[in-house]
Amino acid sequence: MKRITFLRSAVAATAVGGSSLTGLEQALAKVAPLGPLLTKWGGPYGGIPPFDVVKATDIKPGLMKGMELLRAEIKSIVMNPAAPNFENSIASFEDTGRPFGQAQTFFDIYTSTMNDKAMQAVEKEMSPILAALRDEITQNEPLFKRIKAVYDARESSGLTSEQQRLADVHYTRFARRGANLDTEQKARLATINQRLATLFTTFSQNQLADEENLTMVLESEADLAGLSDDLRASAAAAAEAHGKKGQWLLTNTRSSVEPFLTFSTRRDLREKAWRMWTRRGDNPNQHNNKATIGEIVKLRTQRAQLLGYPSHAHWAVADNMAKTPEAAMVLMTKVWKAAVARVHEEVADMQEVADREGARITIEPWDYRFYAEKVRKAKYEIDQDEVKEYLQLDKIRDGMFWAAGQVYGLDFVKLAGVPVYHPDMSVYEVRHDGDRVGLWYFDPYARAGKSSGAWMNEYRTQERFREPTTPIVSNNANFIPGEPGDPVLISWDDAETMFHEFGHALHGLQSNVTYPTLAGTHVKRDFVEFPSQVNERWLSSDEVLSRFALHHKTGKPIPRGLVERIKRAKTFNQGFKTVEYLASAIYDMKLHMMTDPNAVVDADAFETKSMAEIGCPKEVIMRHRPTAFGHIFSGDGYSAGYYVYIWADTMSADVVEAFVEAGSLYDKATCRRLRDTIFSVGNSVPPDVAFRNFRGRDVDTNALMRDRGFPVR
Ligand SMILES: [Zn+2]
Repeated sequence: MKRITFLRSAVAATAVGGSSLTGLEQALAKVAPLGPLLTKWGGPYGGIPPFDVVKATDIKPGLMKGMELLRAEIKSIVMNPAAPNFENSIASFEDTGRPFGQAQTFFDIYTSTMNDKAMQAVEKEMSPILAALRDEITQNEPLFKRIKAVYDARESSGLTSEQQRLADVHYTRFARRGANLDTEQKARLATINQRLATLFTTFSQNQLADEENLTMVLESEADLAGLSDDLRASAAAAAEAHGKKGQWLLTNTRSSVEPFLTFSTRRDLREKAWRMWTRRGDNPNQHNNKATIGEIVKLRTQRAQLLGYPSHAHWAVADNMAKTPEAAMVLMTKVWKAAVARVHEEVADMQEVADREGARITIEPWDYRFYAEKVRKAKYEIDQDEVKEYLQLDKIRDGMFWAAGQVYGLDFVKLAGVPVYHPDMSVYEVRHDGDRVGLWYFDPYARAGKSSGAWMNEYRTQERFREPTTPIVSNNANFIPGEPGDPVLISWDDAETMFHEFGHALHGLQSNVTYPTLAGTHVKRDFVEFPSQVNERWLSSDEVLSRFALHHKTGKPIPRGLVERIKRAKTFNQGFKTVEYLASAIYDMKLHMMTDPNAVVDADAFETKSMAEIGCPKEVIMRHRPTAFGHIFSGDGYSAGYYVYIWADTMSADVVEAFVEAGSLYDKATCRRLRDTIFSVGNSVPPDVAFRNFRGRDVDTNALMRDRGFPVR
């Protein structure tokens, strides 16, 4: 199934993770020392990020100085009197921005995991400056001319296929970002981009404010009805952290609200919690996001039209596998119909339970998770709390390592003494046949200032361009730590998310390309979730469960009968999951297909209208309501791009069928083919070709329908 997460990748066209200083940088460094943020990472394991010496206050000056270095590097490319060729233009450009990229990596890490007030101020100040830098580079005419000259001659100048692809990627980025516009248009574009950067930051900081400031106090034992000891303990801990020792507190985050909606027997409190959660960014306070959304959407339409596209969606999707928003809509509509039909069945099942219990209610959105859980117990005899007893965070992590060992031949060795930015973190060396593949950092626990959800981040990109460089990646999550020494128990969904994010990590780690721009997860948006979704599948393999799903008290493996029931329930609640996701994805696409450049959209009214148009069942709402839909409003990355999860899942479902055909998820030949055609090639091969190299044909979307238990017509 899909997993909704952030995957952070390099922001700037030029910001490549990296290593060596050029002669020019060394000359500059002599004038003014670069400091730890900008100096090539030293130390063991091919160099490691100096979390022990860099301070948060170094980040802004580091970025500013890194920008100056980058400008100087670009100037030297542009001033080269020799005619443009691959080496002196594309390759030299690929080599720029290494110190800047390091500073940006620290900026990304701190703003997503250590975002205190001081850091938020830096983020607010730097976001438009960084956006302006991107436009300054895109709009550098002599630079673009050199890149275009190499691109135009790419097929006749003796380049390797990877070099041709690199020229293509760089040229396309420049062209898509307005390098061909006239001076006046370029100025307008830069103004729009800087304003958008500020609006994105405003949006995400507003969302974070409502998540951190709005909470629900549970005052007495009666308010806790239905909650497990585990949930009570974390509610008590949350209360204490908010200065309400002796009470219980529901924080406004997914990881605390969803379990409450699933288990609380207090319908009135479920509704209250649901309203708090779904109104993030939509409250009558200074953090309301509606005006911000209106301005973002308007500016995006104006920008798209400046760039020659009818709408933002047309611009955003053009460079993806889907190519057009209409193609994405065709897929979503096909799945939508089947999923809505399934929701009606699910609601009927739940209503029956409610009626039988004499509840005298009609199922509402705040009832869905609660009654779905009852149906799950009745129909499949699965109790999520029972499953949780077998899912220990540390053991599941070991299970991920083990599966990656079986599938790809990787070993994970825990390291001591490697600097980290928070004591909760651990670091592993990843090896293949004894050789270092890269490093994996793990930041598992929730804390103030950390983005919610789970994601993968890349600290250093694989390459062997100037010198062989091994990747450094991280996985980040928001688990609640237990008492010291106690195992942290996680849900089945959380375990799947861990495997998912680890799939992104494996995609980054196993990259084997020449140029960092083409490495690992730097692929098309609607391809990037595919390897991570594939990796989820190993969790439910008997081999992993029998070894790593061990009871936290007895150490006994999860009983076979329970595993069988979990597998039988695989498509359970798939109507709800698919509809809440697709409602968001369709909203995103419809909103960004608007073509009126002056319209200021009302985010809520558009939600009501678009949900009515597609016939969204009243019991389900968008997984991310507009005012807290960070994927599409806290940056451009996933805008008109929330569809990518289902697009990618057509490929992952089809790949899993290849394993089924081969007889096992651990079939050696199929595993090797997966690594060689998908996990190692990054964007050095066009994505449709990469898929064909694995499967021997184009993707069959019916595999996805079968996977979700929807009828294939
Ligand atoms: Zn993902």
